[in-house]
Amino acid sequence: MKILNSALVNIIPILPKSLVRVFANKYIAGDNIGTAVETVKNLNSKKFMVTMDVLGESISSKEEAIKSKDEQLEVLDAISKNNLDSNLSIKLTMLGLKSDYALCENLFNEVLEKAKSLNIFVRIDMEESAVTDITIQMFETMRKKFDNVGIVLQAYLRRTEQDVIRLSEQKVNFRICKGIYIEPEEIAFKGYDEIRQNYLKVLKLALERGAYCGIATHDEYLVEGAEKIVKELGLTKQQYEFQMLLGVRENLRDRILNRGHRIRIYVPFGERWYEYSIRRFQENPNVAGQVLKSIFSR
Ligand SMILES: Cc1cc2nc3c(=O)[nH]c(=O)nc-3n(C[C@H](O)[C@H](O)[C@H](O)COP(=O)(O)OP(=O)(O)OC[C@H]3O[C@@H](n4cnc5c(N)ncnc54)[C@H](O)[C@@H]3O)c2cc1C
Repeated sequence: MKILNSALVNIIPILPKSLVRVFANKYIAGDNIGTAVETVKNLNSKKFMVTMDVLGESISSKEEAIKSKDEQLEVLDAISKNNLDSNLSIKLTMLGLKSDYALCENLFNEVLEKAKSLNIFVRIDMEESAVTDITIQMFETMRKKFDNVGIVLQAYLRRTEQDVIRLSEQKVNFRICKGIYIEPEEIAFKGYDEIRQNYLKVLKLALERGAYCGIATHDEYLVEGAEKIVKELGLTKQQYEFQMLLGVRENLRDRILNRGHRIRIYVPFGERWYEYSIRRFQENPNVAGQVLKSIFSR
């Protein structure tokens, strides 16, 4: 089955887009803000909080960065107008982080100002290690002006423990995830178990130091480990939340909710749905098996 799944991962990128769309629907909330709002309303009605994400890749032109900023503002408006229980997740490379730091700073400032005026929290997603330093630098600059901004830390990075210690000297809101990019051994833990152990270590450290933590994982071992930590530390439900991606391990997410925790679903949407879906399928060959089933059972 493993070999079959891996083979499927290779053929998915050559399947017709319309076919990919059929099974991608589970993981993305459509290609426009209207479909995304409907998905969020549905999740909210089931007591899930949400973070909305406009799909996109790193951009290099000023025009693209401004367009991307406008899309973020549109999401903020939609959250406010529809009274959604949602915040916004954003990748700074979509605002030109890699090509023009000053432009990115101006655009992100505009996003945060609007979010602040609407009482909406904004989470900076963490991207590959080439931008870790400048992403954290941007976060720290903005955190001095805004209290509605938070950042993601990746448990696979060896530096994360030190980042937790330094950043949590002030009141901070982290999302902690394993990390999704392929990084060299010199800077990243590579073993499945050592990443898990570092995850629990940095999560505990962050919580002990008073940070609010988004516990982003679909790994049941980590969910149970996190539950143990919050219990040991005697935290209230208001001091942390679980987070999962739309469409992934829905049984687990229901169980987390039923055990009385708060949980936030990451809802990606937008014109770039195709690239995002292909990445998700490549990440998890088991999903490819599901894809095959859905194709042939239609
Ligand atoms: C809310 C949220 C936000 C994130 N933000 C970032 C970020 O800003 N930067 C970053 O680098 N990474 C981010 N990630 C990704 C994260 O770093 C991991 O790569 C991803 O969550 C897989 O790790 P895991 O902890 O779920 O454990 P895994 O061991 O990878 O997964 C546990 C089980 O969950 C299932 N599963 C996991 N992922 C998927 C999937 N995509 N599709 C289907 N099934 C799956 C599988 O059954 C797997 O066995 C985010 C993840 C979440 C949930």
